[in-house]
Amino acid sequence: MTATTHTATCHCGAVAVEATLDLAQPTYRCNCSICRRTRFWPAVALPGGFRIVRGQDDLTRYTFGSHKNHHYFCRHCGVRVFGHGTDTPMGEMYGVNVGCIDGLADEDLARLAVVRVDGLHDQWQQAPAHSGYL
Ligand SMILES: [Zn+2]
Repeated sequence: MTATTHTATCHCGAVAVEATLDLAQPTYRCNCSICRRTRFWPAVALPGGFRIVRGQDDLTRYTFGSHKNHHYFCRHCGVRVFGHGTDTPMGEMYGVNVGCIDGLADEDLARLAVVRVDGLHDQWQQAPAHSGYL
């Protein structure tokens, strides 16, 4: 599979983004404090392959800790369509929530490669000791 442009939307539809994603590449599940709470499941888009189509004013940005990663959610429905990492192991990137991508069937989601990372301990290159719940 090669990278193609996908649209991702929040639940109420106020927020929509377009992202160039290669869904043959790994997606991520992470055990950090915010991913654990929100069950965030991102695919990676690079800065040149990401844009907000609508809803810029409907987004709320949340940061914590180092404040290097920006966690956006729709202020109406609360869904996290994407996050923006400014200083990640892969550089600047956008994490697009796989569950928000329009037009993916259940079987498409089930086929995605998932890499589980230990973000809780800043060990991004390794899986958590316990990852079955991610
Ligand atoms: Zn919304």
